[in-house]
Amino acid sequence: MRQIAFYGKGGIGKSTTQQNTAAAMSGLGNRIMVVGCDPKADCTRLLLHGKRQQTVLDTLREVGPENVKLDTVCSKGFGGVICVESGGPEPGVGCGGRGVITSIQTLEALGAYSNGLDFVFYDVLGDVVCGGFAMPIREGYAREIYIVVSGEYMALYAANNICKGIAKFATRGYARLGGIICNSRKVENEAELVSEFAKRLNSRMIHFIPRDNIVQKAEINKKTVVDFDNTCPQAQEYKTLARKIVDNQDFAIPTPITQDELEELMKDFGIVD
Ligand code: ADP
Ligand code: MG
Repeated sequence: MRQIAFYGKGGIGKSTTQQNTAAAMSGLGNRIMVVGCDPKADCTRLLLHGKRQQTVLDTLREVGPENVKLDTVCSKGFGGVICVESGGPEPGVGCGGRGVITSIQTLEALGAYSNGLDFVFYDVLGDVVCGGFAMPIREGYAREIYIVVSGEYMALYAANNICKGIAKFATRGYARLGGIICNSRKVENEAELVSEFAKRLNSRMIHFIPRDNIVQKAEINKKTVVDFDNTCPQAQEYKTLARKIVDNQDFAIPTPITQDELEELMKDFGIVD
């Protein structure tokens, strides 16, 4: 079983990319579980065709740890993908990151990981400075990390910060960077910029996902693109990414860059003057 985390700035396309990749990977015959670790609890919506999955943390609060049942907190979505939403703490109380670990431990206790899974995906927000969100990597659950970026400065800034976190835990843990996924925002020289950025981080751009309106179209229909129109070019992109992740053997301890280097890089590629 490979445990994979997708990190990246809010709104960059983590949940969209992850659900499409999971859908495509299930098509390759893999058994998959997606664990949403965003307090917004919107990481599995497309796989579940709009159903709002009851969160683990809400269930724990409502019925108590002894009475939680696996099928209350898991649902099967498109392609048989098992969908879980960790949920968040009560607003203003408690730590979101801690909540993620509580819910992973609950899933473990209920036997969710012992059902012959090939892949577990964690969908984790990455622009939060709170170390709590590093929990899935810190506690040794997710060992393989992909960061979703675009060619925009804030996305790269967040990715670099995430790399600082990964590098910090790499010496005493197992988490490695599997690659940078560019989810295009149609920035000039975007693929070149992101490739070079990834190289500087001791990694590589594993795939470039074009920006395509079919993503929104599918989203309005509460579906992944892979589900909505399996033969369209965008579905093909997610299938390619899925295959690259399945075949990936290239895992690195990232080498974060300084803010000055990042700014220089943006200048080199003509993004800022
Ligand atoms: P995150 O999980 O990182 O916060 P989402 O996956 O929710 O981000 O994506 C934010 C928005 O961007 C969604 O409305 C989604 O439809 C859109 N989006 C993501 N990827 C693409 C893409 N490749 N092309 C077009 N729109 C996209
Ligand atoms: Mg999301």
